[in-house]
Amino acid sequence: MGIIHDPIPHFEFRVPVLVVGAGACGLTAALAAHDEGREVLVLERDSRPWGSTSMSLGAVCAVNSTEQRRHGIVDDVETFVADVLRKTEGRADARLAALVGRESGATLDWLADTHRVPLLLDFKWTGLGHSHPRLHIPPGRNGEELLALLQNACGRAGIEIMTDARVADLYADQSGRVHGVRIERPDGSEELLGCDALVLATCGFGGNHAMIARHIPEMANAKYFGHEGNQGDGILWGAALGADLVDMTAYQGLGTLADPQQVVVPHPLMIEGGFLTNVRGERFTHELANISGMCVPVLEQPQGLAWVVFDDRRHRTALEHSVEQRQLVEVGAVRRADDWSELERLCSVPAGSFAGENAAIDQARAAGKPDRFGRDFAGLEPLAAPYCAVRVTGALFHTQGGLRVDDTARVVRTDGTLLPNLFAGGGAAQSISGPAVTGYLPAVGLAMAITLGRVAGRHAAKL
Ligand SMILES: Cc1cc2nc3c(=O)[nH]c(=O)nc-3n(C[C@H](O)[C@H](O)[C@H](O)COP(=O)(O)OP(=O)(O)OC[C@H]3O[C@@H](n4cnc5c(N)ncnc54)[C@H](O)[C@@H]3O)c2cc1C
Repeated sequence: MGIIHDPIPHFEFRVPVLVVGAGACGLTAALAAHDEGREVLVLERDSRPWGSTSMSLGAVCAVNSTEQRRHGIVDDVETFVADVLRKTEGRADARLAALVGRESGATLDWLADTHRVPLLLDFKWTGLGHSHPRLHIPPGRNGEELLALLQNACGRAGIEIMTDARVADLYADQSGRVHGVRIERPDGSEELLGCDALVLATCGFGGNHAMIARHIPEMANAKYFGHEGNQGDGILWGAALGADLVDMTAYQGLGTLADPQQVVVPHPLMIEGGFLTNVRGERFTHELANISGMCVPVLEQPQGLAWVVFDDRRHRTALEHSVEQRQLVEVGAVRRADDWSELERLCSVPAGSFAGENAAIDQARAAGKPDRFGRDFAGLEPLAAPYCAVRVTGALFHTQGGLRVDDTARVVRTDGTLLPNLFAGGGAAQSISGPAVTGYLPAVGLAMAITLGRVAGRHAAKL
């Protein structure tokens, strides 16, 4: 797999814009290219588009959207860029953050108004690094629905998504101009397609163990809970054509993947007052300090495991809003008991440990002070029986490093010049998370997919 320079073949057919990958980025890019009046074709390796997009909550962070304004929220690019820089300790690309700030709200408005992809502002995920409510979620609150809405929009627009079409190689000339791709089919046959512009929407490299071991060694032995098709193909092609790679050490992690059931425990359980302990029943961290970075302290605990502890009232609220909470029940991951001692027994933690941690939280709340980790429980109802717990571990969700892109999503070489007709977005492109796991702002992954997808599709069409 790689770049074939010579000879450039006669392609079986040509399209002006080819998009590789049918996740949120690829489908948005295709819609944008189509709206510019260009023929576009999407190539997808799987028999059914799925991607990390379908595995996600479907939450997209966006700035200055009609939805925000409808709720009276006044947001702006400067505040967003300041939030990104605060979260990343000044180590994110402020130019790219400003691009996302400028384009994300308009992108969501365009998706809703032109393509019937409605995303509604969510208030359950306020704070956590965002100065304003910015998370926009599909009505059914999951990524599968987001991908289905985008696929339906492509269907209405007459955009073809060719599935079972793994792009194996790019054809390029010595100037770095991409002329087309070689596709491998599951039966071993191949097809050669030409293009005028290529959009790489192949996501990151979370499924490529060798790349993870090289760039993110701290997660080399952790579970990967993103799409297996994220093999870093786009990043590797770009690099082979001389592209600059940025922040390859960065990633989105999570400390609350149910173990062994592998379902994401909804974070609002903790935002609304739940807490985390290790298998000794001891709290070890401020649960809301950093959602993405939480995978590191969780994996450092004995056996790399922890318990999310909450109560039945919060459990029932989560059941109403969250597909994952319902899945947790279906797979038997939620342990529930009428009192602390029974829950401690069910979770095999020392007697009195959960009760003791909960009492310490109640004490801090009553004293009007933050707890020993600096977390403030003020305004949150104390947990009340019956109580619940889910065993969790830390996991790698999504890599954040990738191809450097300019403000038109064109891929930039290491010498700062632009590759002639190569564009990238979503997980294949650099993000705005800086170089570390702690820099990930909630819902930036899909913001990079959708915003850069639209920018890439629009500009690829103009080429
Ligand atoms: C459990 C989980 C929850 C998440 N929740 C959120 C969230 O709520 N909000 C948020 O912002 N982010 C979230 N993320 C991250 C988010 O899912 C990603 O940032 C986003 O989906 C990336 O979109 P994409 O289009 O770049 O990649 P994907 O959706 O992964 O699409 C890439 C596509 O490219 C295809 N492909 C790859 N290589 C080839 C090839 N050689 N030829 C043809 N096709 C190829 C893949 O099969 C795949 O379909 C979450 C991630 C996970 C794993």
